[in-house]
Amino acid sequence: GAKRSGKAKYEIFDPSMGAEAHARLGLENDLRRAVGNGGAEFRVFYQPKVLLETGEIFGFEALLRWRHPERGVVGPDEFIPLAEETGLIVDLGRRVLREACRQAKTWQGEAAPGLVVGVNLSARQFQDPNLVGDVSAVLAETGLAPDSLVLEITESVVMDDAPVAAGTLAALKDLGLRIAVDDFGTGYSSLSYLKRFPVDYLKIDRSFVDRIEDSDVEAIVSAMIDLAAALGLRVIAEGVEEEGQRSRLETLGCELAQGFLFSKPLPALDAARLLRMRLAPRPGIG
Ligand code: C2E
Ligand code: MG
Ligand code: MG
Ligand code: MG
Repeated sequence: GAKRSGKAKYEIFDPSMGAEAHARLGLENDLRRAVGNGGAEFRVFYQPKVLLETGEIFGFEALLRWRHPERGVVGPDEFIPLAEETGLIVDLGRRVLREACRQAKTWQGEAAPGLVVGVNLSARQFQDPNLVGDVSAVLAETGLAPDSLVLEITESVVMDDAPVAAGTLAALKDLGLRIAVDDFGTGYSSLSYLKRFPVDYLKIDRSFVDRIEDSDVEAIVSAMIDLAAALGLRVIAEGVEEEGQRSRLETLGCELAQGFLFSKPLPALDAARLLRMRLAPRPGIG
């Protein structure tokens, strides 16, 4: 069948197109129904962000899951692009933000006062004229301190329409929250926006962490970490799966990391259990 890469693309002469286009339309209708139904099929999962030096949980990233009544769990890489194209992401994303902020506020009261929560924003959400007002309303409603919230945005989204993006980022920063550049290293080659735009975190893309044993890749990761330090940004490595990667990153001076080595994204109850232990699971411990 036709391969999908981000946005669905179909080859005109692919005989399977009919079936695949049909399936996609089915999924789109289901998504519309699920969002319209009050979102009961959606759950926010949480993956710990870990301080490499101590193994402590610094915060969580909120990651959306869709439990489809017939298909089972549909991953974000499948339905977020659809939600983008249809505009459903604006409504859905607002709910993720509210739920994640509410949850973080609860956990701060129970176990972890300084806990930080990361929420992903896609292009459509970032361009939504109500974004700043919505975020501000959610912070007020949940009582979460603005500096506990990190909005994760990819480079390409930030650079898409630079003057407008700069205004939106400035308005978000005025609310007191933090901005992370997600999937850093995979988008634009120009780094000048890092100086111009008020970002707080760089998230080194998983593809670099994956190949960090390669000395050229290690040199790139090292340069990213140094660049972040020079600009006063904090660094999070994504997709740490192996102890060797973790120790390499720590040696290079990377402050924070996420990845299956520490924990997969978890339902809120399991994340809370982890948080009560304060330390993220690590090989050889627990
Ligand atoms: P992302 O923001 O870059 O999130 C990191 C992705 O890497 C997550 O995939 C996470 O489960 C996965 N991951 C974490 N550690 C590891 C690891 O050690 N190995 C591997 N192989 N993968 C790891 P997920 O949850 O499937 O989300 C995919 C993307 O979907 C996210 O990439 C983000 O761009 C988007 N997304 C997820 N939730 C939301 C949401 O609520 N709103 C928006 N707008 N986008 C979302
Ligand atoms: Mg992210
Ligand atoms: Mg990422
Ligand atoms: Mg991503």
